[in-house]
Amino acid sequence: MNYPSVIEQLRKKEYISRDLHVDVLRLDKLHPIVSGNKWFKLEGHLRQTPLTPGSAIITFGGAWSNHIVATAYTAQELGLRSIGIIRGERPSQLSVTLKDAITYGMTLNFVSRKEYSQKDQPAFLQHLAANYPGAYIIPEGGSGEAGIVGCSEILRHIDSKSYTHILCAIGTGTTFLGILRASTPGQEIIGIPVLKGISSLKDIDGDKFLTPQRSARGRIIPDYHFGGYARHPQQLLDFMNRFYHETGIPSDIVYTGKLFYALEDSISRELYPSHSRLLVIHSGGLQGNRSLSPGQLDF
Ligand SMILES: *Cc1c(COP(=O)(O)O)cnc(C)c1O
Repeated sequence: MNYPSVIEQLRKKEYISRDLHVDVLRLDKLHPIVSGNKWFKLEGHLRQTPLTPGSAIITFGGAWSNHIVATAYTAQELGLRSIGIIRGERPSQLSVTLKDAITYGMTLNFVSRKEYSQKDQPAFLQHLAANYPGAYIIPEGGSGEAGIVGCSEILRHIDSKSYTHILCAIGTGTTFLGILRASTPGQEIIGIPVLKGISSLKDIDGDKFLTPQRSARGRIIPDYHFGGYARHPQQLLDFMNRFYHETGIPSDIVYTGKLFYALEDSISRELYPSHSRLLVIHSGGLQGNRSLSPGQLDF
């Protein structure tokens, strides 16, 4: 993977007039199927365990999950079996994301929302382990310590020290915590939650995973969730289309559309002193836009 080539500078007049340098790390371009940050999390997890051909990995997700499709594809590449525990009853018409997962050899196991909500409980995990002996279980979204270690690699191949501010979207917060771990003194790492109810590092277990020095570099701006996880009002779609026409960068409705909106809004609210150098992590996820009707996005 040749990282420096996926850094793209945004040369908007407004940024230049405010004396800001804004780069985007286009992780969406790293691989057509294993989107952006998901590869790093999977790698962190897969390093945990000696997997031999034919071993199984089990993970969790919803109908449009980037993590499910990334896991299915990666498992197939590595000659592993994969099992996806999917939230909700099996619908009569599967999403294209789940159809893709099946194409990559994943076995789907639909569970009720109630059962799914127990996915991190020891009893549920023991039951799973008994049903699939020897399988490695990856938490939803590739989260946890192993995922954080994997995401701390994101900054490794670029000259990240030159940035004063690094921005990323927060789902489980794994990517954000990994970037915080790899951060250097003087940097501010800004996380944009895409769901309601995350307003501080405590909400993503920051205290558990980070030293106080690292935590102090983190900042969460909770105002850009647009109503909650996967909510995508017309205002967001209009923004994503405009941003695409201005920059050539496509974004997704769940994560990166909200991230780029937060970027623009925080710049116009003068959050960054002049001479700041910003790096925005485009974490991928474009496949999820297939949940929209044709024509809602211009890309
Ligand atoms: C999963 C995902 C995220 C969220 O990452 P977390 O580590 O769970 O916070 C961000 N962007 C995209 C495109 C994703 O698919």
